[in-house]
Amino acid sequence: ESPRRIAVMGATGSIGDNALQVIAASQGRLTAVALSAHSRLERLVELAKKFTPKWVIATDEVAAKAYKWRGLPKETELLVGAEALEQVARDAEVDTVLAAIVGSAGLGSTLAAVEAGKTVALANKETLVAAGPIVKKLADKHGATLLPVDSEHSAIFQSLKSGTRSEVHRIVITASGGPFRTWNADALRQVTVDEALAHPTWDMGPKITIDSATLMNKALEIVEARWLFDLPADRIEVMIHPQCIVHSMVEFVDGSVIAQMSPPDMRLPIQYALEYPHRREAVAPRIDWTQRMHLEFEPADIGRYPAIELGFRAARKGGTAGVVVNAANETAVAQFLEGELHFTEIVPACKSVLESHNFNPTPTLDELAKLDQWARREVENWVCA
Ligand code: NDP
Ligand code: MG
Repeated sequence: ESPRRIAVMGATGSIGDNALQVIAASQGRLTAVALSAHSRLERLVELAKKFTPKWVIATDEVAAKAYKWRGLPKETELLVGAEALEQVARDAEVDTVLAAIVGSAGLGSTLAAVEAGKTVALANKETLVAAGPIVKKLADKHGATLLPVDSEHSAIFQSLKSGTRSEVHRIVITASGGPFRTWNADALRQVTVDEALAHPTWDMGPKITIDSATLMNKALEIVEARWLFDLPADRIEVMIHPQCIVHSMVEFVDGSVIAQMSPPDMRLPIQYALEYPHRREAVAPRIDWTQRMHLEFEPADIGRYPAIELGFRAARKGGTAGVVVNAANETAVAQFLEGELHFTEIVPACKSVLESHNFNPTPTLDELAKLDQWARREVENWVCA
């Protein structure tokens, strides 16, 4: 059988790195035909030497034009600019697009892949948060397959196979609670960038690490699940589970709860999505059953975690709620990382933008793009005020 050809969008990131380990360990079943980076071009060349893809894509045009590109394999073609992501996502020589670009920058190539009827291994949750109903409708229309990479959604996707759709009672998304789970309100106000960037169980890119600390990551995941599995918000529950071993669960009508467990390591959900529908020999570590294991679950205290409440609100509202919450959050996180915003202001900034925006239940992609820009400006003004 010929190898499955993977376009790794966001190859230089944390998901990209884990995905390339999975591809390298696949004994030729998977091959990286395209690798993209934004500005870490040295790393991109290093990866190209190792994987000799058909294309490398550099999306930061200024950086790409200034770069020397020494050492790029002669079999590899260099493409520059964000449109190249879409061109490659549509190419007949690509089977699966791994959407691992961070933030709304990942939307265009994901949509292009969906419109070309590809299999999309979706790490970029921001795409579904911002444009879930549109992405789903296009996927149906063009026969594209969306496979979750986000560990919670992969767990739900795997657990859903134990029953039919109408037998699902609810899904339970687990949350680590973030590094500040036990901190009091005063301490939270003083959280520094370095403290927020150090996550106890997962090693991830900076944006999602901050999202995990504010629990905006869970808010985005609630909205992501709402669209990915087409479940109303009142069928979604969140439980705090600090060990991150149970990645999420599905409760069926008869009361049975099916969970997916594994040590916290993204290589497993990535491998599941890239190899789907097959299960292959583990790349990630297994659970060690010779050790005592303690698993805790506690209800997510909405007062303590305002982000979770915000996620449910955005999931219930639908329409333009997701795009504004996502854009506000991306801007607020960037401002926090630059020292312009307190840690505890990120969620209130998102909430205020959600409440003040001009809600539309059935937006077009153009309207979403405009609101995305509007929400970013609102947070910038919020910071200046
Ligand atoms: P990283 O920050 O580690 O990597 C981001 C990737 O996107 C890099 O390849 C980066 O290129 C590229 N990129 C950044 N900005 C742009 C842009 N404007 N245009 C095109 N490409 C760009 O992020 P992660 O790997 O942590 O996360 C990627 C996605 O996966 C996010 O949506 C995240 O929410 C999701 N996810 C991540 C998990 C994780 O464990 N890390 C878990 C679940 C979901 P460059 O390196 O050149 O800057
Ligand atoms: Mg997750």
